[in-house]
Formats: sequence, structure tokens, C-alpha cells
Amino acid sequence: MPFQNEETLKFIESFHKALDEDLDDLRTENEADRIPLIMRETEAFLRLMLGIIKPDNILEIGTAEGYSSLFFAKLLPEAHITTIERDQHMAEKASANFSSFAEGSRIELKTGDAACVLKSLKDETASGTRPDLYDFVFIDAAKSHYREFFDLAEGLISDDAYIVCDNILLRGWITSERGKEERRHRTNVKYMRQFLDHISARDDLEVTVLSCGDGLAVIRHR
Ligand code: SAH
Ligand code: MG
Repeated sequence: MPFQNEETLKFIESFHKALDEDLDDLRTENEADRIPLIMRETEAFLRLMLGIIKPDNILEIGTAEGYSSLFFAKLLPEAHITTIERDQHMAEKASANFSSFAEGSRIELKTGDAACVLKSLKDETASGTRPDLYDFVFIDAAKSHYREFFDLAEGLISDDAYIVCDNILLRGWITSERGKEERRHRTNVKYMRQFLDHISARDDLEVTVLSCGDGLAVIRHR
């Protein structure tokens, strides 16, 4: 559930236009199955941003059933996407989705824990088997591990890359005293706050925090 005013959110979402019918259907399916895919408002922002920066090589942490990966691939016909998913069942669904669309051939799915996969990507980069650095990173996985994902992703990006982190407001729990009640929220809130404090304290980073969707942090090296 969104933390924003329900009516305002509905109003904003009423302007949403899917990129194409495939994505429209996939969103409907994902929503019916309660897959935590990117919100419409988040998609609108990413569409604007990616249309401006036009990245060639995208890294995504958290694939789910592949909605956002396919959105990137369809939006940017030249881009290559590497996406990481830990859950075997989700990964199988994503793989099937990628196979059903032509754009899926530009998506490389890595199944496994993101920290392990990111380390092996780093080894491949160091040994020259994976020469291209990423110029856009989308972090959208385990909410208490953003610091770790960010630190590892930093070793894989070009100087002018952007890193966008989703769900940083944790449906409003980030500012809520209620976060103290439920253990799951408490842990996520603690680590998400530490992550945001850490990146915003770094002088070499430019950090923009937005209330878009479930909250986004947009990060770039100065
Ligand atoms: N980006 C997707 C939604 C991702 S939901 C979209 O918008 O369509 C978050 C996903 O991250 C879940 O499928 C979850 O299984 C995965 N995940 C959580 N922790 C992870 C980890 N440590 N490594 C890899 N994937 C992880
Ligand atoms: Mg998300």
C-alpha cells in the first residue's frame, strides 16, 4: 500500500500510459499475483530519466518476474541489461517472460544472491571478460542490504553513471514511530536510514532523495 494520499496517487496514476501492450499485460498479471514491481509513478520517472541519459549498459538488482528489465529493454532499443534475482521461482518466471519477447534477448539474467553475483561480475571485469562498465544501476532488492549492493555496484560503474535506489521510504515506515513495533520494518528502517545517512555524508556523491512512488534515491559521482 502506498503511503501517499490515495486520491492524489490515483490521480497521478490516471496519466500512466504503458510503453506497449506487452508491458500493460505484464503489469496487470504482476499486480494480480502481488509481485512488488515498480509503481506507475516510478516507471514514469525512470522513463523520463532514461530517455534523457540513454544508458547503454544497465545493471538491475532485483528482477522479480522481469517487468522492469523488460521496461528498460523496450524503452532503450540499444541497451544491454544485466539483472539479478535470488529467488529460483521468480527467476524461472522472469526467464520465461524474457524468452517470450524479442527485447528479452538483450537481458542477461543472473540467478543467485546479489552480493555473490556482484562479486563475480567484479572478477569478470577485472579479468577483462566483461569489459563494459555499467552506466545505470537500479537497486530494487532486499531493503536492508542497499549499502552492500551500492558498495559492490560502485566497483562496476563508469564515472558518469547514475545509481537509482527504489523503495527508500519503505511505504512511509522510514519516518514512522510504528517502525519500532514490527521487527521486519524495524530492521529495514534501521538499515535504510544508515544507508541514506552514509551516502549523503559522502562528499564525492551527489544524492537526490525523491518522494516519487515509494521513494527514490538518485546518486551520481561528483
Ligand atoms: N525490479 C522488479 C521488482 C523487484 S522486487 C520490477 O520492478 O519488476 C524485489 C526482488 O528482489 C524480489 O524478487 C526478491 O526475490 C529479490 N531479492 C531480494 N533480495 C535479493 C538478493 N539478496 N539478491 C538477489 N535478489 C534479491
Ligand atoms: Mg521496488
